[in-house]
Amino acid sequence: MSSLTGKTALVTGGSRGIGAATALRLAQEGADVAVTYVQGEDAAREVVAKIESMGRRGFAIRADAADAGDAAGAVERAADDLDGLDILVNNAGAGVLGPVGDLALADVDRVLAVNVRGVFLASQAAAGLMRHGGRIVSIGSCIVQHVPGAGATLYATSKAALVGLTKAFARELGERGITVNLVHPGPIDTDMNPADGPYAEAQAAGTALGRYGSAGEVASVVAYLAGEEASYVTGAEWAVDGGHAA
Ligand code: NDP
Repeated sequence: MSSLTGKTALVTGGSRGIGAATALRLAQEGADVAVTYVQGEDAAREVVAKIESMGRRGFAIRADAADAGDAAGAVERAADDLDGLDILVNNAGAGVLGPVGDLALADVDRVLAVNVRGVFLASQAAAGLMRHGGRIVSIGSCIVQHVPGAGATLYATSKAALVGLTKAFARELGERGITVNLVHPGPIDTDMNPADGPYAEAQAAGTALGRYGSAGEVASVVAYLAGEEASYVTGAEWAVDGGHAA
């Protein structure tokens, strides 16, 4: 029996990148999995088809994490579709980079809405319906632990907020046996940060391992935190960054 057999999970932003790899990894471990998406309906349906090909139930839910109703509603919808929710992975994220002077109010609002408010509202909704032993895992960023250069103030601000959110939710939900943790990926080869992008070489050089990571390398840590073996891990930050913070 796999470690997540009989569990149900929602992965926000699960149509591509780290979210898709995480959804597939959770399914591989035995979970039924719903994913949210915004643009990529076909990609989300492909992820669901792969989940179903493993003999699990899969659902694709269109829900924009920037929208307050969608952020909480996706959790309720997933719990309905899956008959309960054991695992929430807050993966959807917005990355707007640039000098602070160039950022518009709309940029600030969007990044904070997706990366902070959306995570808060989804976690709040999950806390209201999760069973004992539930798991909330959010995706932060290595930039919280080490900012390698200029231009990331808004993104770093938003991801740093997840440290407080994670610790405080862990304290609130601990008595119900629900754990809350935060994973900080380093440079991971996805559409958001391709390993052949203009700043890739410097990012790889900034890690101890001297390379980009894969979405699967993040998904394996999320799967561990989502499983029974991580039952005494909560309120913690997990760097999966090739030594970016070292
Ligand atoms: P990708 O751009 O590759 O994928 C983003 C995924 O999130 C897609 O499935 C996309 O769906 C979905 N998504 C985007 N915006 C929203 C939204 N508003 N509401 C719901 N879903 C949304 O990103 P990554 O996989 O690289 O990033 C995943 C997470 O990891 C993010 O939180 C990011 O900040 C974090 N991270 C990434 C790093 C990296 O180097 N890649 C490093 C550190 C952290 P759709 O296609 O439908 O729009």
